[in-house]
Amino acid sequence: MTFLNETHDPALRSWVASANTADTGFPIQNLPFAVFRRKGSAEAFRGGVAIGDQIVDLAAVAASGEIGGAAGEAVRAASQDKLNALMALGRPAWAALRLALSRALRQGAAEQEPLRTCLVPQAEAEYDVPARIGDYTDFYTSVHHATNIGRLFRPDNPLLPNYKWVPIGYHGRASSIGVSGQAFRRPVGQTLPVGAAQPVAGPSRALDIELELGVFIGSGNTLGEPVAITEAEDHVFGICLLNDWSARDIQAWEYQPLGPFLSKSFATTISPWIVTLEALAPFRVPFVRPEGDPQPLPYLDCEANRHTGAFDIQLQVELLTPRLREAGSAAATICRTSYRHAYWTVAQMVAHHTVGGCNLQPGDLFGSGTLSGPTPDQAGALIELTAGGKQPLQLPGGEQRTFLEDGDSVVIRGWCEKPGAVRIGFGECVGTVLPARD
Ligand code: MN
Repeated sequence: MTFLNETHDPALRSWVASANTADTGFPIQNLPFAVFRRKGSAEAFRGGVAIGDQIVDLAAVAASGEIGGAAGEAVRAASQDKLNALMALGRPAWAALRLALSRALRQGAAEQEPLRTCLVPQAEAEYDVPARIGDYTDFYTSVHHATNIGRLFRPDNPLLPNYKWVPIGYHGRASSIGVSGQAFRRPVGQTLPVGAAQPVAGPSRALDIELELGVFIGSGNTLGEPVAITEAEDHVFGICLLNDWSARDIQAWEYQPLGPFLSKSFATTISPWIVTLEALAPFRVPFVRPEGDPQPLPYLDCEANRHTGAFDIQLQVELLTPRLREAGSAAATICRTSYRHAYWTVAQMVAHHTVGGCNLQPGDLFGSGTLSGPTPDQAGALIELTAGGKQPLQLPGGEQRTFLEDGDSVVIRGWCEKPGAVRIGFGECVGTVLPARD
């Protein structure tokens, strides 16, 4: 099966010069979606597509009438303050819009002059959460994360026996999902201090990150009608960066028997840009199971998923402490990994979520779960990087961290690159910890 078409041609160049530089995350082969407006303005948020250091204002494109047909319908749907209407149109409409924008933004395109007036510099933009997220589900698809965490609690039996059979997830909180730039107060909750007989209420002392990807659902499914794995990706609009902030001390006390609750509901931060599955096509890789592991049950298995179901998305986490910020120093990189190490694929998450009849709706969001890779430096959470808080990270300038301190900012970056393809980026996902409320 090939997913490639003319929009992936590495030779394509744009008349937007900044899209042709080696270091841009937003070449003409990417074309990710966000909602934006001019910073500090009272303008309505509307859909936009990144090209180089610019945004194609899709409301302005709709008003121009330059793009017609199925792509024109998609442009009009994307003119709203959230992308749900575009997401609901389905994969053929997204593909038509991508093709029309790719052709209109190429060097020599007839649309160059009219579309030039539809560009807004990213430096002058602010973003919003790109969809009305009706439901947010957080999965647990990294076997390395599950094993590392399990080992902290159950050294003799780190991985529970269901892990290799069933994609584990829980229903998360949608209302507190914010877009990159989000600053939130350190959560307060119940914790059981070591050796104490009863819990106390107070600020979390073990505030952590979770390096994840977010999967936005496009077209939904009818209640009671599962999505077959062979159709699963038709329901996926695209992928963003996601930081699932987690209060480990609150989590440790509350998580049995129903899983995390307040330890993760206070904030989740996503990147503004959603990279479509079509843009990610050159970076697909086989889904493989380690020798001796069980193969997925039939409803979680198909040939396309085996051959091309995983994505090689490079991920990096940086920590910027107040001291580094004040010194003008660069953020410290604390993790590098790839999404290719996940145990379950995007298609398997969709097939599993719906197998019991659950209906997904346009704009629903899945978290991948913490994307730890196979080696310790590829761990996507501080609780793993510091061995449960016992081995502090050494930062430039002599600072140490076990968990996050007030004023810390965390930056997640993602990109795809390989020989023969143009590098594409996800931009960044930044969040900052504010002091707890008194
Ligand atoms: Mn999570």
